[in-house]
Amino acid sequence: MSDKNEFEVVPLRAFRDNYIWTLRNGRYAAVVDPGDAQPVLDYLLSERLELCAILATHHHPDHTGGIADLLTRHAVPVYGPRGEPIPTLTHPVHEGDEVDIPQLGARFSVIDIPGHTRAHIAYYGADSLFCGDTLFACGCGRLFEGTAQQMVDSLAKLSALPDATLVYSGHEYTLANIQFAREVEPDNPELEARAVSDTEKRKQQQPTLPSTIGREKRTNPFLRCLQPAVIASADKYLGKRAGDPVQVFAAIRQWKNEF
Ligand SMILES: [Zn+2]
Repeated sequence: MSDKNEFEVVPLRAFRDNYIWTLRNGRYAAVVDPGDAQPVLDYLLSERLELCAILATHHHPDHTGGIADLLTRHAVPVYGPRGEPIPTLTHPVHEGDEVDIPQLGARFSVIDIPGHTRAHIAYYGADSLFCGDTLFACGCGRLFEGTAQQMVDSLAKLSALPDATLVYSGHEYTLANIQFAREVEPDNPELEARAVSDTEKRKQQQPTLPSTIGREKRTNPFLRCLQPAVIASADKYLGKRAGDPVQVFAAIRQWKNEF
């Protein structure tokens, strides 16, 4: 891997809080999870870029809704999870597959991370992780189609990546996630520091993303189900002892849904 990426990553806003992550160099761009085509088309036009690939992490419409429209104007490969109903995919992929984007000098490994949806995938490469609605800054996705055990396993795969890995999630949910994380873990100094710095970023209308795997391991309660403080909070929420880390995870996931 080169020490300098040949592309930069730019966030395009869509809907209320989605990010369409756009990988670009001086001539080409690839987009991750284009739920809406218009922000992508506007950006390509204003920056005079040529679309060269589309990557989808899962089938939800706020991540895939713009693909068909983009394809009517740009005939490009569309990568996405083999196990999900996305009719516009040209390249269905799953764990073990690689995605090459020669125009950007980029290569990503596909990681299966089911839980939010049944075949959700992530793209990992160039020290970057595009993880859709599985890992958020200080949070994780809801369990719409998978089990707590699947999500715990998926998050464990992501937390095994190098600490410096940049984490590009699908939504700007960070401040609400931090508010909940502080309930779960009231005495985590790094979480308190993160609350201050991310609040400041939002005040200046900057994204709080990308995060890093290291920062998530130190502040994200869903990656900290072995920490005594997180276990104690899960026990308190349940009114009994959670028997294992999956039950701890399931308890705080449920608690977050009600928060
Ligand atoms: Zn989703």
